[in-house]
Amino acid sequence: SELLRVEGLHIAVEGKEILKGLDLTINTGETHVIMGSNGAGKSTLFNAIMGNPKYVVTAGKIFFEGKDITEAPVNERAKAGIFMAFQQPIAVQGISVENFIRNAKSTVSGQQQRIMPFRKKLHAQMEQLKMDKSYAERYVNDGFSGGERKKTEILQMCMLEPKLTMLDEIDSGLDVDAVRIVSDTVSKYHNENNSILVITHHSEILQHLKPDFVHILIDGKIVKTGDASLIQAIEANGYDAYKG
Ligand code: ADP
Ligand code: MG
Ligand code: MG
Repeated sequence: SELLRVEGLHIAVEGKEILKGLDLTINTGETHVIMGSNGAGKSTLFNAIMGNPKYVVTAGKIFFEGKDITEAPVNERAKAGIFMAFQQPIAVQGISVENFIRNAKSTVSGQQQRIMPFRKKLHAQMEQLKMDKSYAERYVNDGFSGGERKKTEILQMCMLEPKLTMLDEIDSGLDVDAVRIVSDTVSKYHNENNSILVITHHSEILQHLKPDFVHILIDGKIVKTGDASLIQAIEANGYDAYKG
């Protein structure tokens, strides 16, 4: 069934039009990839789907499970099951990873999370991500390496159990082992009841995630959609062939 539908979306950031009539439909259980040159508007699309108020909808609509969420605030979208892992995760002072994720889980699920069962599940997920348990007690991203920040985002995904996960260059700056651990964890999380939307410049993570659809975003629009074979075509020829 249809999970996300973006229709004729135009987005302006600080008065400049970045997305110029973008259409995208994602069904439950699917994995989609967005590729495109730097500055094409990929992260802008994710921010718009998440409801970041800096990204202003000037035309078009966003539907989630058939409901119009175009004007919905971020917290409502998170409660509906939308999650975004940031390209550049920010540090949060004074709150531990465990409390941060437990609060987020209580908020999105509407159910107070009891400490011990939550901790047990958190530690199991950390083990899968090969993160030392001591990270749970550290302040969010404070002094974390790039790889540790990204693993923390994936840990959050595992615990929040979103219906739609958006991963913005989650693989950039990771070493080969970390890319494998992160992709294995996302693959394990992915099933027929949730959907994954990925931005990446590297094909390695895609070998693990096995996308159903690949979209090329150029100058604020999706100009081509294909299957995974499109990845090799892009790697061989670049984006010039798709530019208008
Ligand atoms: P991509 O992720 O495809 O590399 P982005 O969506 O990040 O591209 O950026 C697209 C364009 O929008 C760029 O010109 C960028 O400078 C601009 N832009 C995106 N976000 C912001 C922002 N928060 N403030 C100002 N400009 C932005
Ligand atoms: Mg799948
Ligand atoms: Mg980006």
